[in-house]
Amino acid sequence: MIKFLKTMRNKTQEEIIQKIQDLKKKRKAVILAHNYQIPEVQDIADFTGDSLELSKKAHNTEAKVIVFCGVSFMAETASVLSPDKKVIIPDNRAGCTLADMITVDKLKALKSKHPDAVVISYVNTTAEVKAESDICCTSSNSVQVVNSIPKNKEIIFVPDKNLCKFTHDQTGRKLICWQGWCSTPHINISAEDIKKSKQDHPDAKVMVHPECNPEVVNLADEVVSTSGMLRFAKESKADEFIIGTEIGILHSLKKANPEKKFYPANDKAICPTMKLITLKKVHRALKDLIYVVKVEESIREKAKKAIDRMLAL
Ligand code: SF4
Repeated sequence: MIKFLKTMRNKTQEEIIQKIQDLKKKRKAVILAHNYQIPEVQDIADFTGDSLELSKKAHNTEAKVIVFCGVSFMAETASVLSPDKKVIIPDNRAGCTLADMITVDKLKALKSKHPDAVVISYVNTTAEVKAESDICCTSSNSVQVVNSIPKNKEIIFVPDKNLCKFTHDQTGRKLICWQGWCSTPHINISAEDIKKSKQDHPDAKVMVHPECNPEVVNLADEVVSTSGMLRFAKESKADEFIIGTEIGILHSLKKANPEKKFYPANDKAICPTMKLITLKKVHRALKDLIYVVKVEESIREKAKKAIDRMLAL
């Protein structure tokens, strides 16, 4: 009976995958999936990567429709960079708790206290917040972005306090850190998780995301973005790795390095909104062209300036 049910499930999945492929051709669409998406969605995608890599893909593609399998700020960034394309997100409830922790009004209030400060916003922000910022950064280039600001300038850094601290530690620059954080999954990874994983796998290298707590960051061999993890795993001579970020990345890591072993520091490090997108929803998105993400032009132009300044570095 179990075997029969499994066969039926595989058959249904194959049918959906075929329908997605057919619709993708018909719509001249491209499917982009973040490294935290469920494995089936990563596997159907034309490109997987971190938010910035995917936005660059969105910008350079010839496709007319972009199905963005990630969270809303990522789809917004794709829309900011590619206003002539139709950007759709398969589930419009896929938000980011970290991005929600800073609003335009809160940022304006902080700016009024530091009128000469340069505002750096992490890509995990809404287009409106980016529009109120001078320059954006990602988890892989925050140090480079801070170092590009003249030494005599005050710097406001929003919204992630852990990335802000990590960037401060790396650059020695005084930063006014907004006290936001990724409420799931990074907050769920503890120093004890890393110590326990090290006991179980003493030869493994520890890679963690800079959104993790400082006690976790201090125990890591490498503090890197998801694209940095993929690069490090490929180039490293090590055969085993402990991974401190959302567990979706393990699928990409294992696929790219089948001969190596990857262990989650905490297997409950799951971003619930990233997991909202399923193959069925990707199919519906392509069939009905929902949900469209479009940034209002006056905000888009300003947000694009902040992103372009980062890309120019
Ligand atoms: Fe936002 Fe954290 Fe989910 Fe990333 S993992 S989308 S920062 S809530």
